[in-house]
Amino acid sequence: MERIHVAVRARPLTAEDAGSSPWRVSGNAIALSTQPSIRFEFDRIFGEECRTADVYGARTKHIVDSAVRGFNGTVFAYGQTNSGKTYTMRGSGNEPGIIPLAVHDLFRTIEEHLDREFLLRMSYMEIYNEEINDLLVPEHRKLQIHESIERGIYVAGLREEIVTCPEQVLEFMSFGESHRHIGETNMNVYSSRSHTIFRMVIESREKVDESEAGELCDAVRVSVLNLVDLAGSERAAKTGAEGVRLKEGSHINKSLMTLGTVIKKLSEGIEGQGGHVPYRDSKLTRILQPALGGNANTAIICNITLAQVHADETKSSLQFASRAL
Ligand code: ADP
Ligand code: MG
Repeated sequence: MERIHVAVRARPLTAEDAGSSPWRVSGNAIALSTQPSIRFEFDRIFGEECRTADVYGARTKHIVDSAVRGFNGTVFAYGQTNSGKTYTMRGSGNEPGIIPLAVHDLFRTIEEHLDREFLLRMSYMEIYNEEINDLLVPEHRKLQIHESIERGIYVAGLREEIVTCPEQVLEFMSFGESHRHIGETNMNVYSSRSHTIFRMVIESREKVDESEAGELCDAVRVSVLNLVDLAGSERAAKTGAEGVRLKEGSHINKSLMTLGTVIKKLSEGIEGQGGHVPYRDSKLTRILQPALGGNANTAIICNITLAQVHADETKSSLQFASRAL
């Protein structure tokens, strides 16, 4: 397995974040200026002036290119609510996110592979309270994970739309977004409690001339690219949650903790040595299993804020991300 690539992105400070930042960033290291022993190093640290396209170019582009060549890949955005995960993955009016950048790149890249023909499919799902919902078909809720010899691990009944251009993908996405908040008044509250998995399935086979048809040419490559906007990493306890919110919080904590453990085991190379990786402990890791271990490429974008008020959360996000290295 290739090493897991970990980048940090600090979002711009807002008016409410007034006051000086306790963090000092220098190159690829970030430390607390009051407590210099609290120091982390990553593959890249992107400051508030960076563009999402820079973050994309640093690693995700490579993962997209590899996916076209048949290798599974997963990119996560991790961080507390309001740290810029959705801004980074989906984008905003200001600039496109990793998902649209990757989708455009994907279609451009397959055009360059003249010797193969491609079939692209997309799906879009969320995991909310350990339940899997299909964002492309709002009535498909509480889907189950199955495993078979032919298909491997898959979400039964999940819609996969065949897509032929980037615009079509983005249209399906905004359809999915518009149906997300059923019964919810506050979209941001809801999205901060669910994981969203955008997935492209890339299938290709060698092109053959008429004259050669009939000979072999059955080598079909299938790979999966997952772009994941994780639930907010803030702890339930800290936000004083009760009842439903607490239940949501404990599901989130459990799945993010499992993700942390899985990633740590992978980065230690435990899997290659036949060791146990606890993919089954959460729906998130189970769904992503085929695109995390083995030959898969994985990257984490750890979204943080440098604001003083969030120093504790930022520290725990950095701790989480550093376990993957
Ligand atoms: P999260 O998904 O982690 O909860 P959001 O992506 O929704 O956070 O970001 C919270 C707010 O901050 C949004 O209004 C978003 O537009 C803004 N924001 C986040 N990151 C950036 C950035 N790098 N540049 C400008 N605005 C940003
Ligand atoms: Mg969000």
